[in-house]
Amino acid sequence: MKKWKIFLVFLIIVFCFDLSILFLYPVIHINNTVVTYNSNYEPKILAKNVFVNLSDKVTWTSNVDTSKIGKYKVICKIKYLIFNLKKSISIYVVDKDKPTITLEGLENVKLCPHELYKEEGFTAFDFYDKDITDKVKRYEIDNNIFYVATDSSGNRITARRTITYGDDENPAITLNGNSEMYVYLGNSFTDPMYTASDNCDGDITDKVISTGTVDTNKLGSYDITYEVSDSKGNKTQATRRVTVISRPVPNNSYGNGYIYLTFDDGPSNLTNMVLDILDEENVKATFFVTSANEATRRAYNSGHTIALHSYTHDYSYVYSSSENYFDDLNTVSNKVYEVIGIRPTIIRFPGGSSNTISRNYKAGIMTYLTSEVLRRGYNYFDWNVDSNDAGSDIYNSSNIYLNVINNLSHNKTNIVLMHDSGSHSATVNALRDIIRFGKNNGYTFRAITNDTPSVRHRVAN
Ligand code: ZN
Repeated sequence: MKKWKIFLVFLIIVFCFDLSILFLYPVIHINNTVVTYNSNYEPKILAKNVFVNLSDKVTWTSNVDTSKIGKYKVICKIKYLIFNLKKSISIYVVDKDKPTITLEGLENVKLCPHELYKEEGFTAFDFYDKDITDKVKRYEIDNNIFYVATDSSGNRITARRTITYGDDENPAITLNGNSEMYVYLGNSFTDPMYTASDNCDGDITDKVISTGTVDTNKLGSYDITYEVSDSKGNKTQATRRVTVISRPVPNNSYGNGYIYLTFDDGPSNLTNMVLDILDEENVKATFFVTSANEATRRAYNSGHTIALHSYTHDYSYVYSSSENYFDDLNTVSNKVYEVIGIRPTIIRFPGGSSNTISRNYKAGIMTYLTSEVLRRGYNYFDWNVDSNDAGSDIYNSSNIYLNVINNLSHNKTNIVLMHDSGSHSATVNALRDIIRFGKNNGYTFRAITNDTPSVRHRVAN
């Protein structure tokens, strides 16, 4: 053979050998090299050459820890024919979960115009990073607030809160006094007024428009309508019905009835107004005081009776022991003595001698005190005509008036309970009509003295 032929055969042999190696060489591949953290991991290994699948011949070891994101290795080994291969393949444990954002409060917030939104709070949580609230970026665009949280793997979530400005809530009108009132024919009617408030505008009492009048010289029912609008035009109405009724005829011919007007819990800034009316009507009354001031001096000098009520007026204090009761009584006695130089002996128990609230503090204390005060030289008075001005009629001068005049009698010592402490302007408003009624019906007004017949309740503790 010629040399080149030998060479050619040689080349063919080499070529075939290489080709067979190429065809027989196992190729190793892992199908799942990216792993979600916290999942169970087993590599899906594929090994083959051109002719056969060799996967079951592969042995492997790995350091993959799926509880922690990161890069790991699986080392695959295969022995096949003349091949003894080892291949290291990288595995990546990753976090592909987006974090979550939880908003406190509503996603769609309604606010009044010009009201500022006060952030109600938010939290961000990622299954891998756990609490990432402090990584939240918060920003406002127009009427939206965006909250963006990104976890350590770059997964991102955006939450949005939308603010809507407006006011579609109606304002509210609250009537002072009752929505149904009664007034006697010929008597004057004073509207006890109202308050109005709006969720956005606040107090809008001065925007209330009332319509309707009461003709107290004509029997019948009269409606007074109150209407108010807030700045966005939401409207509310309320109505009060005032009925003019005829005055009942006194059930007794004019006799020697006496009325003892008594005012508890003063002095206050109203006391001088009470004294003005009493002066103008030339009527004497009795003040059961909790302290003493210039108005007390004026009352005393005008011939009214100054009597003791309580200094603290705190039931839990005065009725928890007789020592406390007399301490309290001495304190108000001292106050009065400093101003008018006398120590009154006429007294009235806080809540009256029939009060049951004292049971909460000491059983039987009223039984003891009602005899002990007499033993110590005091004389106590309760009442038998309650104006209810410290009850539900506190703001209702018409009812205060009716409560008094309907309970007067020519056959008893009329001791009328009223109050001249600071919240009782309705009492002041009713006072002149009460006095006029008494005068027109044959009564005489007097201040309580030690000669006044006792009016005492039944002791209930
Ligand atoms: Zn009182």
